[in-house]
Amino acid sequence: MLRAVATRDKAYDSLFLYGVKTTRIFCRPSCPSRAANPENLRFFGDVVEARAAGYRACRRCRPEERPSDTQKMQEVARLIEQHAEETLPLSRLAASAGLSATHMQKVFKSVFGVSPKVYQQGLRARRLKELLREGDEVTGAIYEAGYGSPSRVYGEGLRDIGMTPSAYRKGGAGETINYACRHCTLGPLMMAATNRGVCFVMFGESEASLLDALAAEFPKARLQKSAEANGEQLGRWIDALDEHLARRGPRPDLPLDLRGTAFQLLVWRFLIGIPEGNVVSYADVAAGIGKPKAHRAVASACAANRVAVLAPCHRVLRGDGGVGGYRWGVDRKRALLDMERAHMSEARKR
Ligand SMILES: [Zn+2]
Repeated sequence: MLRAVATRDKAYDSLFLYGVKTTRIFCRPSCPSRAANPENLRFFGDVVEARAAGYRACRRCRPEERPSDTQKMQEVARLIEQHAEETLPLSRLAASAGLSATHMQKVFKSVFGVSPKVYQQGLRARRLKELLREGDEVTGAIYEAGYGSPSRVYGEGLRDIGMTPSAYRKGGAGETINYACRHCTLGPLMMAATNRGVCFVMFGESEASLLDALAAEFPKARLQKSAEANGEQLGRWIDALDEHLARRGPRPDLPLDLRGTAFQLLVWRFLIGIPEGNVVSYADVAAGIGKPKAHRAVASACAANRVAVLAPCHRVLRGDGGVGGYRWGVDRKRALLDMERAHMSEARKR
């Protein structure tokens, strides 16, 4: 109690009150007025007890007034803001409001529209964006913004991408996969999708060789050439990607149907979170997914990527800055990186 009073810890406001023997005034532990000598303090369980002892309420901290739910939640929000970089147990937030964890969460949501956790994530994401805008190294910025590791931030960001983890169904048995092919800036490009999302984006030498590649990836699926009619979904998606490659549009946020081992999915989802214009090393990715020794496996997972550009494995370079390998040729990797770099410097000029 003495420590709570000395540090004006709001978390104890709902737990006890203290009185000052010399002035016979009672306060909340967080009262901003000058703290009295510890030997002059006495403690009360509640207002009734303090009054019965002949003490009167302090006019600054007003211990008699019960704060409204909104005020309590504003305090909780302030606590989150002050500790956005830390792990905040729900129990700690709840204690500061003098409520049970479940009740606090409910009230918080009714006041702010989001849970305390999402509120904290929002603060961190904003801080992260600020740090990135200031030009911090990506990984450093991530740690500074309070995410334990890059995988955390990309994990949290994933929810906005609208991607649901899907089970690894080998070979596409029993499924129909639609495909379409275009000649894009970087040569022939094939996109294919299940009814859940894009499962295949690859560059190749011709439509025929790309179709072979698609069949090799999904040997048990029924492959169906997408109707070329206007307004057809896959056609629009591949056009959007083509426009993006030609630098006339943003990277389309298409639903993805990623299939792979748990490790591959971890790597690919991490890749999706790497912002345009940024590059990372295989070791960064390995550290980011919490497997710092696995950079070779990361390189293999990048090489096994089936959705070029949409899961931007071209943004992963060798640790020494060398461009590294690329499933669709190192020249295409360089071209993609050059385009993104040019786009970023244009964007900076604007
Ligand atoms: Zn007071």
